[in-house]
Amino acid sequence: MRILSVMCMIAVVAVGCDRRSEAENEAPWIVDRFDDIKVIRYEVPGFEQLPLQEKELIYYLSEAAKCGRDILFDQNFKYNLPIRRTLETIYEHYEGDRTVPEWAALEKYLKKVWFANGIHHHYSNDKFVPEFSEAYFRAVASTIPAERFGELNGLFEEVCAAIFNPTLYKTKLNQAAGDDLIATSSNNYYAGVTQSEAERFYADMAAADAGNPEPVSYGLNSQLAKVDGRLQERVWKLGGMYSPAIEKIVYWLKKAATVAEEPQKTNIEALISYYETGDLKEFDRYNIGWVKDTVSNVDFVNGFIEDYGDPMGRKASWEANVNFMDREACHRTEVISENAQWFEDHSPVAPEYRKEKVKGVSAKVITVAMLGGDCYPATPIGINLPNADWIRKEYGSKSVTIDNITYAYDKAAHGNGFDEEFVLRAEDRERMEKYGKLADDLHTDLHECLGHGSGQLAPGVKGGELKSYGSTLEEARADLFGLYYLGDPKLVELGLVPSFDVAKAGYAHYIMNGLMTQLARIEPGKQVEESHMRNRKLIAEWCYEHGQADKVIEWVVQDGKRYVVVNDFEKLRALFGELLHEVQRIKSEGDYDAGKELVEQYAVKVDPDVHNEVLERYAALGIEPYGGFVNPEYELVEQDGRIVDVKIAYPANYVEQMLGYSKEYSFLPNRN
Ligand code: ZN
Repeated sequence: MRILSVMCMIAVVAVGCDRRSEAENEAPWIVDRFDDIKVIRYEVPGFEQLPLQEKELIYYLSEAAKCGRDILFDQNFKYNLPIRRTLETIYEHYEGDRTVPEWAALEKYLKKVWFANGIHHHYSNDKFVPEFSEAYFRAVASTIPAERFGELNGLFEEVCAAIFNPTLYKTKLNQAAGDDLIATSSNNYYAGVTQSEAERFYADMAAADAGNPEPVSYGLNSQLAKVDGRLQERVWKLGGMYSPAIEKIVYWLKKAATVAEEPQKTNIEALISYYETGDLKEFDRYNIGWVKDTVSNVDFVNGFIEDYGDPMGRKASWEANVNFMDREACHRTEVISENAQWFEDHSPVAPEYRKEKVKGVSAKVITVAMLGGDCYPATPIGINLPNADWIRKEYGSKSVTIDNITYAYDKAAHGNGFDEEFVLRAEDRERMEKYGKLADDLHTDLHECLGHGSGQLAPGVKGGELKSYGSTLEEARADLFGLYYLGDPKLVELGLVPSFDVAKAGYAHYIMNGLMTQLARIEPGKQVEESHMRNRKLIAEWCYEHGQADKVIEWVVQDGKRYVVVNDFEKLRALFGELLHEVQRIKSEGDYDAGKELVEQYAVKVDPDVHNEVLERYAALGIEPYGGFVNPEYELVEQDGRIVDVKIAYPANYVEQMLGYSKEYSFLPNRN
């Protein structure tokens, strides 16, 4: 899952916000569910309180974010636009029986196409298998007057073949070594080009630019096509490929520039210039300005950014995101950072392995206001850009976490039956309900802002001594630091938590996850490999064993089901401290043997009985593994020809939003 992989890669820092519980309305968080997907709505707390100028800026950037949707459909597969439009025409105009199973299957298929921005799964990249027959599809289409389909009539056979012929366009992205990855991937980044031709084309381009310390991202913003036997780039720019959509994007960016302040105004103008010229140097100029801008409250991403969809890792899909700073959540990370030295001085590790002078790291937390392109409906929960290596090295990168999205995920997970299934005691369930997210966010915060940066090595130890066990032990060290301080009275004193109950919620969930429920992500017969998962298992198993005499943690069987229960939270906290002491010693002294033993003994081996039980109980809950979002809607409020406000609304209808976007933000022809 992209969400999860993003979470693991950038090690999310999400900070909870209590004020939200008052602001949210009562509408359900999950607005639609089909196949393996749930669609969630998200709220934009704080939008109403923004100054008018920033609201207006968000409005214009949001319009720009919606205008590139067709680009992504076409990038994903050359027939995605006619397929989507044919399905939509049928969906809107079919007057026959909508109660038969085949119609339901057709509707589900369309929902999946909208979600994936095409006919291939957004995560697995495999082509969807329709659960309705081609005969049914043709029969339904034939009842609709031909003029409704317009130009689509001429593409109907291609559309049918793409949907129904299982041997065609099987995957959007093939990464199997040995195949011609371009010929076997059905994305639209290359046209009539073989892999070796593309490789040679870009190798030549790089060779011509050899020695340039500031190389552009060759090929990022174009389709490589063979035209009249010659390779050429069809650049995505004004007047180039995708021009009708880019014109609209530029139109709204220009509006945005009129209300933006410096340095943002200049950055937006650089982005416009890049869209106008297709010049990747302009894109770099924009990125440098963007990464240096840490003052603008409203921020955004709009362009050809990530190259995961190209097997060559070169062509970028179009994506957009509009956001503003979550000042309250940022305040929380600031409080923790400001007190970094206190936490270090009171840490339960050996005094010689504490840092004398510690510098807290602050992380920016944002509220997203609009998702577009490859960030919609499925979105990452963190952003770390730009991607160009030389810019990252010279100017750094911006790393942010999207709090209102993780909040919505959390809300959507409530009532999915998970807690009822796996948490035995009502008191634990209530505490998790009330404080679960706060505990989670604070723990992540302590882990990121302080945990990884804490401690010091003994003289002569370089780091790296722990080799393959290093990352698990490093995560364990940071997690233990966070767990230990989550239950410290200091957090109450700093006003970060109301009471020890927050720690109780966090501890009960952590131990249950580490001993049991995280196994749901492991395939039958496999061991624990991923270092974050190993770290959680290590901590939970070690604490279970070392607290056994006092029954600190207990396995309870009730009605044939296993549960994990924490009986003594204070003693558990002391165990976290003890283990932190030992893990810090191992790191500080580079004690490979002790580190290896700890990991091998506690973090790797899966009990097959527990594993099978978790998998069965998890499957019975029917929780969809993938999630995505519907966007809010913004409306300009005018008075006497002047804009006086921007209103926000939260539509809760996935189908209506998709059909609306297809009507109002669809600018590209069927074939590009
Ligand atoms: Zn970490």
